[in-house]
Order: sequence, then structure tokens, then C-alpha cells
Amino acid sequence: MHEMALAEEILQLVQSTARREGAREVKAITLEIGALAALEVEALRFCFSSAARNSCAENAALDIREIPGEAWCLPCAARVPLPSLSAPCPRCGSYQLQAVAGTEMRVKEIEIV
Ligand SMILES: [Zn+2]
Repeated sequence: MHEMALAEEILQLVQSTARREGAREVKAITLEIGALAALEVEALRFCFSSAARNSCAENAALDIREIPGEAWCLPCAARVPLPSLSAPCPRCGSYQLQAVAGTEMRVKEIEIV
């Protein structure tokens, strides 16, 4: 699973931000995760809490917001909602789709003290 690698990446980013800002502790981290990013939110939470043990982010609350998936459907020539990458177009059933939103993961906010 790539959740552990991702959790470590997030932790590094958070730690370097905290260091740069001279923070004592990280209180909260807001993440945005696309519905199409193929990430298990619960697995990510678990990985992050074990990766963050004994770091300045040990007690940080992890606020995870899911961004809905969206695709451009060629036959419909429109943006359509897409729950997963293997799903067809909800309007016409076509698989000629290009994901346009919901594939990313980013750290949106870091709250430090
Ligand atoms: Zn369609």
C-alpha cells in the first residue's frame, strides 16, 4: 500500500513547516484527498499516527476532506461526476472518460502553536 509512503511524505512537509515557523507543536492538519486518488482514508490515518509518533505532529488532529471525482466524457462532451476510476459515465455508460478532478492529494492547512 502507498498510504505509508504518503503518510511519511505528509509528515516531512508538516515537520519542515513547523521548523521553519518555529512551532512547538502541530495542532491540526487539513488534507484534501480526491475520491479518485485510490487512497484508503482510514489506512492513511493509521499510517500517519504511527509515522508521527514522537514527532511534533504526534497529537495533531487530521482533518481529511474528500474531493469528489469528476471526468470529462467524450461522447457527452460534458463534465460528469465519477465515483471511481473504473466506473463508466453515469449519463451514457461510456468509458471514454478523462478524470479532471479528484485524483490529487494535498496538504491544505497546517495549524501550529
Ligand atoms: Zn457520457
